[in-house]
Amino acid sequence: MSDLKQRILEDGKVFPNNVLKVDSFLNHQIDPIVIGNIADELLAHFGDKKITKVLTIEASGIAPAITIAAKLGVPMLFAKKQKPSTLQNDETYGTIVHSYTKNTDSHVVISKQYLNQEDRVLIVDDFLANGEAAMGLINIAEQAHATIVGVGICIEKSFQDGRQRIVDHGVDIYSVVRIASLENETLTFAEGH
Ligand code: 5GP
Repeated sequence: MSDLKQRILEDGKVFPNNVLKVDSFLNHQIDPIVIGNIADELLAHFGDKKITKVLTIEASGIAPAITIAAKLGVPMLFAKKQKPSTLQNDETYGTIVHSYTKNTDSHVVISKQYLNQEDRVLIVDDFLANGEAAMGLINIAEQAHATIVGVGICIEKSFQDGRQRIVDHGVDIYSVVRIASLENETLTFAEGH
């Protein structure tokens, strides 16, 4: 069994509304060994795609994204959930992203300065549920006319729509761990990546 699956079984907690809490090692307190192994596995799949930038959304995507970017020696860029006062609207690419866990909408932005048509972008996030965050990042990369190499996910909840939306959009997706069900607070893994 993979390192991440083992850790989810040991330390993950299932909450109502199909939410898996993994904040003891993935997205609050962060275990660098677990994140390093996730980065290695995502790079085994995407590493030869001439990636120039790793793209994510704040806050929980930043740890896996920066780890991958460091291994590749390329910049990591994250979408901000609030537009900095120093950036004008016409200086940003933006889109609306609905948060699955918070049930709120954010207008997320990236400075046009840091993404362009020369870029080959790997999109990374901690979780994939309904694909709002990943599709929002795909939308932003498309506004910049960047090439999207793929979407790399730490934990995919395969019983939700996210993967299908990404596949339907023609984008390659690889998830380190896939969860088939969290029903009755019981976690079942799905096969494949
Ligand atoms: P999506 O945008 O695919 O609907 O949901 C993914 C985003 O919501 C991720 O960025 C993640 O932060 C959050 N998320 C979705 N499901 C879960 C979950 O079960 N547990 C945690 N901790 N975050 C989740």
